Amino acid sequence: MGKYDFDLIVIGGGGGGITAVTMAAGLGKRTALVDKKKFGGECTWSGCIPSKSLLCSAKAAQMIHHAGQYGLTLEKPVSVGNERVMESVRAIVQEVYNKESSDHFRKLGVTSFEDAEVAFIDETKISVNGKTLTAAKFMIATGSGPVIPPIPGLDQVKYFTNETIFSMEKMPASMIILGGGPIGAELSTAFTRLGVKVTLVEMAPAILIHEDRELVDILAEKLIGEGVSIMTGTKAVSVEASSHGITLFCDTQGVPSRITAETLLVAVGRKAHTEGLNLEAAGVAHDAKGIRVDKYLRTTAKNIYAAGDVVGPYQFSHVANYQAITATANALLPFRRKVNYHHVPWCTLTDPELARSGFTESEAKEKYGQGLKIYRVPYAGIDRAVTDRTKTGLAKMICNKKGTILGIHILGERAGEVLHEFHTAKSLGIPLYKLDRVIHAYPAYNDIVKQAARSANIDRIQANPFVRFIKLLRTSK
Ligand SMILES: Cc1cc2nc3c(=O)[nH]c(=O)nc-3n(C[C@H](O)[C@H](O)[C@H](O)COP(=O)(O)OP(=O)(O)OC[C@H]3O[C@@H](n4cnc5c(N)ncnc54)[C@H](O)[C@@H]3O)c2cc1C
Repeated sequence: MGKYDFDLIVIGGGGGGITAVTMAAGLGKRTALVDKKKFGGECTWSGCIPSKSLLCSAKAAQMIHHAGQYGLTLEKPVSVGNERVMESVRAIVQEVYNKESSDHFRKLGVTSFEDAEVAFIDETKISVNGKTLTAAKFMIATGSGPVIPPIPGLDQVKYFTNETIFSMEKMPASMIILGGGPIGAELSTAFTRLGVKVTLVEMAPAILIHEDRELVDILAEKLIGEGVSIMTGTKAVSVEASSHGITLFCDTQGVPSRITAETLLVAVGRKAHTEGLNLEAAGVAHDAKGIRVDKYLRTTAKNIYAAGDVVGPYQFSHVANYQAITATANALLPFRRKVNYHHVPWCTLTDPELARSGFTESEAKEKYGQGLKIYRVPYAGIDRAVTDRTKTGLAKMICNKKGTILGIHILGERAGEVLHEFHTAKSLGIPLYKLDRVIHAYPAYNDIVKQAARSANIDRIQANPFVRFIKLLRTSK
């Protein structure tokens, strides 16, 4: 036994923390994992896993309702019950958790504590359920939780957040979703398809305000077509309980309105989990954005690292994993690696999905000026989208004059998967036109890559001085 009980103690057993202890144990380090709840974190219990399971059930319901589109006939009247959907979502959550429980970590040689009270005593000691544990290095991966806005009356009514919505026993008839970001947009898609009348309220002029506007407009139209009532530019002013559930009083550019629904889901933003850890005792600085780290993910205490949502700037499971690997390596290995956020992809799983990596058109113009090349591929021109009846969508590639990919934006079926071929090229500095040399299996949604790369290749050939000279000769004849 060395000077300390452990080489590394990780606080927070979500996506980031789990990645960190798995790597540390793999390196043969004495490792502990502590969490104030069950391991798995937001992704498993109240984020990615339940939301995507719910979306999957919702998609199945949608396909049943639209069976005619596939040439199938159903006996009328068709009734698709939603009573057991949440139970099925929770079963999937449990299945994922089973691979992340204390048992699993014990087998890896990690000492683990679930449902524990955790606080720093100083920079090398923490108290876990009143017992002192010491470690040479720590990692804080305590994630984030929903922001509750100070709307008058909100504290007087029963409302849901992503932390409680998946425990709901009965599907409501109607729901107000406050917040048109990724969580609000995904859950509007899911609940509407499951027969809930959804009103999506967003203060900004558009939903998914940080995404490519051209694609968001197509998506918003699709959501409205499916029955979501979208109120943008609308501020929630106050909330009241009413005989029919909850009434939200709003203001849309000076015009007052009220919406009543059985339930309210609040999804307006995220805040880092820094409270209760006694970070001051360890010398770990933090502010409203979360724990302050340098480019090596080291906090203001030199033996304490942090990763995941509690750090930001991107709050995704895959970023938490990436940061955890980087921070664990920096904490335990003799060399140091800087974090690099140049190539971070993400995907909002509305239907169609909206996937992205890099700059939007307006961001690219602001940074690089004019002369950008933008390649658009509509899903309607992709045979696989035609056979699958998934023609709604558009892919947009933003490149510089040399064909270097600056931004990828795809709205459409399996956009999250199609994104990765472009994203790999972007991350490795492979120009778009080079992908035209790759043989793609047909028919696949990745024909989008083929078409975009073909257009980029034609542009490149036409820009070639020799080709331009020949063209000039021909036109001057
Ligand atoms: C509805 C929803 C859908 C999402 N969908 C996606 C998606 O599709 N793809 C994607 O990439 N991301 C998605 N996310 C984001 C993703 O869930 C987070 O980015 C990810 O979980 C962050 O991982 P983390 O390890 O930083 O934190 P978490 O997974 O939140 O883990 C933090 C852990 O720390 C513990 N903890 C907190 N405070 C303390 C304390 N004081 N003491 C001890 N332990 C503590 C918590 O109990 C928790 O287990 C979604 C989020 C939401 C809300």
